[in-house]
Amino acid sequence: MIPHPIHETLFDEDTIHKRILELVGEMKDDLRDRDLIMIGILRGSFMFLADLCRELYREQIHPSIDFITLESYYGGTESSGEVRIAKDASVNVEGAHLLLIDDILDTGRTLDTAEKYFFNKGAEQIKTCVLLDKPERRVVPFEADYVGFTIENRFVIGYGLDYDSRFRELPYIAVVQEEN
Ligand code: 5GP
Ligand code: MG
Repeated sequence: MIPHPIHETLFDEDTIHKRILELVGEMKDDLRDRDLIMIGILRGSFMFLADLCRELYREQIHPSIDFITLESYYGGTESSGEVRIAKDASVNVEGAHLLLIDDILDTGRTLDTAEKYFFNKGAEQIKTCVLLDKPERRVVPFEADYVGFTIENRFVIGYGLDYDSRFRELPYIAVVQEEN
């Protein structure tokens, strides 16, 4: 058995679900009547995207869905600042309206890189949506169009977010207690 890190629930399933309904309320009129492509940034966004797209469906919004895998280079625990494409999306984004989905907006490098990349590929409009935002950590000035929850600078896991590549399956978001 893999021991769980000591953690404390920050947002439970019900709270996340209610916030997703509100987010869909915020975004639905911006996204309607458009040839929309939702692109999830892997791996962290898979659960959020899955829940979000099912609520968009209830609003008669039917996007195509694709994924891109982006990775930051790490030296120790700090990101070096470089983001690379580990696996590209396969959809043609020329002239398209995109909704980029990520789990968390931290330094801003990942979404900034993704947005520039897809504009370069010819996307006409890009909206960005994150479940969590840690504005204190920003290195690149970047604001998402739709934000689930703004949080303090704490390391969170679950609902797609990993702890040493595990615990993404937790249906809730938790804060990890640092051991000293
Ligand atoms: P950014 O490029 O904005 O710094 O980083 C975004 C990525 O860093 C997220 O998609 C996520 O993979 C990772 N990240 C940032 N903060 C956290 C956190 O608190 N917990 C986990 N598990 N990943 C995080
Ligand atoms: Mg990520």
